[in-house]
Amino acid sequence: MNNNYSDTPIFLDYASTTPVDPRVVEAMHPYFSQIYGNTSSIHYYGQKAERSLENAREQLARCMNCQSEEIIFTSCGSESDNLAVRGCALAGRQSRGANHILTTTVEHHAVINTAVQMAGIHGFELEFLPVDQHGIIQPESVAERLRSDTALVSIIYANNEIGSINPITEIGLICRTHNIPFHTDAVQAAAYLPMDTQILNADLISIGAHKFYGPKGVGALYVRKGTPLIPSLTGGSQEFGLRAGTHNTPYIIGLVEAFMLVEQEREERLQKLLPLRARLIEQVLERIPASFLTGHPINRLPNHASFVFDGVDGNELLIALDNSGFAVSSGSACKTGNPEPSDVLLALGITPELAMGSLRVTLGNFTTLDHIDAFLNTLPKVIEQLRQL
Ligand SMILES: *Cc1c(COP(=O)(O)O)cnc(C)c1O
Repeated sequence: MNNNYSDTPIFLDYASTTPVDPRVVEAMHPYFSQIYGNTSSIHYYGQKAERSLENAREQLARCMNCQSEEIIFTSCGSESDNLAVRGCALAGRQSRGANHILTTTVEHHAVINTAVQMAGIHGFELEFLPVDQHGIIQPESVAERLRSDTALVSIIYANNEIGSINPITEIGLICRTHNIPFHTDAVQAAAYLPMDTQILNADLISIGAHKFYGPKGVGALYVRKGTPLIPSLTGGSQEFGLRAGTHNTPYIIGLVEAFMLVEQEREERLQKLLPLRARLIEQVLERIPASFLTGHPINRLPNHASFVFDGVDGNELLIALDNSGFAVSSGSACKTGNPEPSDVLLALGITPELAMGSLRVTLGNFTTLDHIDAFLNTLPKVIEQLRQL
């Protein structure tokens, strides 16, 4: 790698995943081969695991300002989204004949594709809320489209591609007033934004540990008491009957430890990231002609920068940057071998040609000023080369 900085590429793709915090690894460790009981077993081993699991659930509930029975552990952020959207839609139909799903064009595929399946296979009417040029949903537009037969509203808290933050508290209040269940995908938001369930006004909140320095393959869904939900994974009575399957105790312990570290260190992490991110955005826009920031300029995740560059192919840019020692992303969920422009960028009114030249640079706990400066020294040259081809 020729970033003149290190032998391994510099990781600037923390929105795709994060390394597990060593303190989290340490917290998980005993649960692999010492406290290994099945939480459903009656005996000593089962009880021990069960106690640890329930302690972890209580800790997470305290962090999210909710009751521990309102936390459902799942296998990932995608599963949480699936359970919320599918489970709530089916329950709404069963209990009150609800047939309408209200969501947005800027959701993660875990929400969009589940909603599309509910429409295609189960005949739900799917409606997409409009977004403004920064990808933000206005509360009034939710109020205008809510119906008595709306099964659920699902709106992403902070966008993974463009970083924009939605007014979840206000939207939640509107849904609450009309008694319509409201889900928010907070998988990307959980690393930085307030996660107090009483402030957010959401009935269902999805999180996934690997986006905040926890392990991959574990998530949680907050389900407000009284929210009707039909389980997708049926079997044993784990997770209050809402999610069958033997608990992945070590990973759940890891998720909760990572979440508590976010709570404890949020301010510190913000203070470190904000100036680095500000420098990155300012310098990219200054040094590179025909470059544009995507998403909201201020109301965005503190570690998140996303751009489009005129006359550049995003995939070629990623490859060129990888060869120069930088791991970054186009921002879009399906990137490899997919020449389509991102639906999220198109929803902002960006032309398909411009949307093809997208780049997402996301910072994290191990990002330094040297990393940013090395990147800023490389990116303009790489873009110039690609434009000349
Ligand atoms: C990563 C992500 C998901 C999916 O989470 P997994 O744990 O990877 O399944 C869902 N929504 C958003 C916004 C994400 O960033």
